[in-house]
Amino acid sequence: YDSVNEKISSLLNAQAALVSDKKVLDSILNNMNDGIVIANADETITLINPSACRIFGIEQHQAIGRSLAEGLRNYKVNELYTKSRRSSKQEMVSIEIPSPKAFIQCIATPLAPEMSGDILFLMQDITKIRQLEIIRQDFVSNVSHELRTPLASLKLIAETLLEGALNEPKVAKSFLESMDNEIENLIQLVEELLELSRIESGQVPLEKKWINPSLLVNHAYERMVLMAERKGLKLKTEVQNNMPDIYVDPTRMEQALINLVHNAIKFTEPGGKIEIRAEKGENEVIIHVEDTGIGIPPKDLERIFERFYKTDRSRTEDGTGLGLSISKHLVEAHNGRIWVESQPGFGSKFSFSIPIK
Ligand code: ADP
Repeated sequence: YDSVNEKISSLLNAQAALVSDKKVLDSILNNMNDGIVIANADETITLINPSACRIFGIEQHQAIGRSLAEGLRNYKVNELYTKSRRSSKQEMVSIEIPSPKAFIQCIATPLAPEMSGDILFLMQDITKIRQLEIIRQDFVSNVSHELRTPLASLKLIAETLLEGALNEPKVAKSFLESMDNEIENLIQLVEELLELSRIESGQVPLEKKWINPSLLVNHAYERMVLMAERKGLKLKTEVQNNMPDIYVDPTRMEQALINLVHNAIKFTEPGGKIEIRAEKGENEVIIHVEDTGIGIPPKDLERIFERFYKTDRSRTEDGTGLGLSISKHLVEAHNGRIWVESQPGFGSKFSFSIPIK
């Protein structure tokens, strides 16, 4: 009996070990971010984890026991299955999922010899990486574009001067003034790019101090009021009573605000009004810059804070399209938010918030 008992208990132990192995495996499969699918030699799905279901927008019970084609409804996975079966090797493909739009990297691995005929699919969401790649490509092409225009015009002016305009002092002077202007734009572009990359890489340590928002508003007002008046605009401020102090880097914060006011001046026709307002929200201080300017078309609203983004109407204005993204970075470095509301033809309201510690 003893030996029988021993056998039974060792079998029970082995079974318990199996059950606990399965539990571990299940909890890994259920909790991992990547999608896992196994299809057998008949192209039938035998296993699919919740992440894979999420990626393909399906339910687990709808997929298991179905064919790959029916279950996942993605022909690229089928092609990958066939390819990997034929080559008996690991194969990879990128899949675009239409809605919600996502890029998935799918790797198929034959499970031979242990599970001969089965193919294991690993699906990784690479949407973020893809987006970063696209942003980087756009960035390089935008920088080149922004540099090309002033450089082309500098070249043109220099050529005209060389071809004889130099001998006519009046003309020559106006050409030189244009050159000076273009160079000024180039310097501004390079400085803004440097500033942006410094902020983004976290190289600018914030020198935070306790200040009252009214100080910020008044300072920005003093710096911009002349520019506004010169363009025939009324600049006003309004600060709620008893504003709490905020813990910020005053120079950087002011720069974020000045960028907004500068834009308001640029994009408002003479006779218009601009108001800088500070108010207390829940756990935050909110600063608004409201203008009665040309406004921003709805389609541009969500992209306006991107680097180099300009609306069509402002293409002719000078400006680099970097100001708002600098403001956004500065505000976010202070754990704040920045947003905009606008009605084309009536005006825009840019706002940002700074948390009260
Ligand atoms: P820049 O002003 O140098 O072109 P910004 O990043 O500061 O770059 O602004 C991006 C774009 O957003 C502008 O080109 C303009 O089209 C739009 N914009 C910004 N502020 C305003 C505003 N107050 N009114 C209308 N359009 C604005």
